Amino acid sequence: MEQFDVVIVGAATAGSYFARKLAEKGHSVLVIEKLSKDLLGRRLDIFHVAKSDFARFGIPLPEADDDFAFEFTGGRTFSAFDRYPKINNYHVVGMHMHRYIARLNSWAREAGAEIRYGAAFADFIYDAEARICGVVYEQNGERHEVAARLVTDCTGIPSVARRKLPDGYGVENFEISDTDKFYVTLRYVVYRDTKDYITTTRGWTYYKTWEAPEGSADSAILGVGANFSYDEGEKVFAAFEKAVKLPRYSVKRIERGTTPYRRPPYSFVADGFLVSGDAACLTKPSAGEGVTASMVQLEIAAEEIDRLLSEDGYLTRARLWPINKKYVEAQGKAFAGQLATLIGAMSSTAKENDFFFQHDVIFSNKTFAALGNGEPLTFTTGELLRMAAIMIGGVLTGKLRVSTIRSLLSGMKNGSRAEALYAEYPAEEAACNAWVKRADAFWKECGSMAENTVN
Ligand SMILES: Cc1cc2nc3c(=O)[nH]c(=O)nc-3n(C[C@H](O)[C@H](O)[C@H](O)COP(=O)(O)OP(=O)(O)OC[C@H]3O[C@@H](n4cnc5c(N)ncnc54)[C@H](O)[C@@H]3O)c2cc1C
Repeated sequence: MEQFDVVIVGAATAGSYFARKLAEKGHSVLVIEKLSKDLLGRRLDIFHVAKSDFARFGIPLPEADDDFAFEFTGGRTFSAFDRYPKINNYHVVGMHMHRYIARLNSWAREAGAEIRYGAAFADFIYDAEARICGVVYEQNGERHEVAARLVTDCTGIPSVARRKLPDGYGVENFEISDTDKFYVTLRYVVYRDTKDYITTTRGWTYYKTWEAPEGSADSAILGVGANFSYDEGEKVFAAFEKAVKLPRYSVKRIERGTTPYRRPPYSFVADGFLVSGDAACLTKPSAGEGVTASMVQLEIAAEEIDRLLSEDGYLTRARLWPINKKYVEAQGKAFAGQLATLIGAMSSTAKENDFFFQHDVIFSNKTFAALGNGEPLTFTTGELLRMAAIMIGGVLTGKLRVSTIRSLLSGMKNGSRAEALYAEYPAEEAACNAWVKRADAFWKECGSMAENTVN
């Protein structure tokens, strides 16, 4: 049987990045990808990442007339009545996904990784102790077996390998169900009047709606995201268009897709196994962006696995465990806090949302900077007292409902509780079960994102 140090399932952004990071450290890496080279990465046309992430993760820059689409700075986010803009200074680069993934594939191959296209994961191979030791895949109607010291699932939302894990194997094998997804619709439009052409982005959190450049001067992308379904997004977009006056436009085409919208599995590792990318729900809770969010975890994983592969012995869950702990410290803790906060913070009426923007309650420049950078959303005692005073004023003047304040405060409280809980994420696998019990109780109490919508 063929033998590799690591087999990665899925050759999109997460799989290619991990393949490169391990191959450049001298390990033998095979990536199996279900799609042909030509179809890979055509799920979306354009996606974007922060410009600083190219240097941060050492990933290649896109090139003009190829995968590069646009770049911009100075996005603004507005209230439900299109007022009180909050400014962020991210420098963002937009890229064509199919071509950028082709670039990442070449970059991984350059370091020695092998990619097999049209090769679909079918099952794991287990050793005599029922531990993963390789994969079975199908290519051109034939079944192939490959042995590996580690198998990594980077198959996106279908989580094909993770969901094949036997119950109790060490990583949850849940399906990312329809209610666990955020439904995004992108309208690629042409603005009719030259005066409306845009060079940066605008967002309206209340409607989970945004406008972004598309690459050519007259074009823009109008995006809307919603819980439950694309239809729900259409309803919200109609309400948005009544409240906010958009430039006159005609639609060139519409693109749709989903991102995971639930807490990630408590452990990303099991015996001989790692999960990452959308398959591990590693997306920013505020925006569903997952490309570089996954790289935070994969960079840590590559360091740890490099060290483990240089040692003898099976890669048990206990040996891989530091990947969990280090990831939770680096990003997971902040994401858990954001997710718990957002569950409460989004339950308001349009008028209340406008009031919050006006008075910098939650929706402030500071909040949007933290959400964009994936940093913890923490408030000083002074800030909390100021917000409390404004909210009491809002209730007394009839501008805020008590129920909204309650849900907002419980969101903020849950955000802090989530961060405290994840700060105590166990350093050793042995202490995991007790922590998971506490985490289960916490998330049950929080509810889910699917419970809040525009009202
Ligand atoms: C409309 C929309 C806009 C978005 N915009 C952004 C953005 O601007 N910035 C950002 O950071 N994120 C964005 N996201 C999120 C982002 O697209 C994902 O987080 C990211 O692409 C996930 O990458 P991945 O490699 O984990 O999975 P995927 O890109 O889903 O790739 C999984 C790969 O696994 C392969 N595969 C599946 N099954 C098998 C199998 N059985 N065997 C072998 N291979 C298999 C698939 O063919 C695929 O190539 C957006 C999402 C949507 C829906």
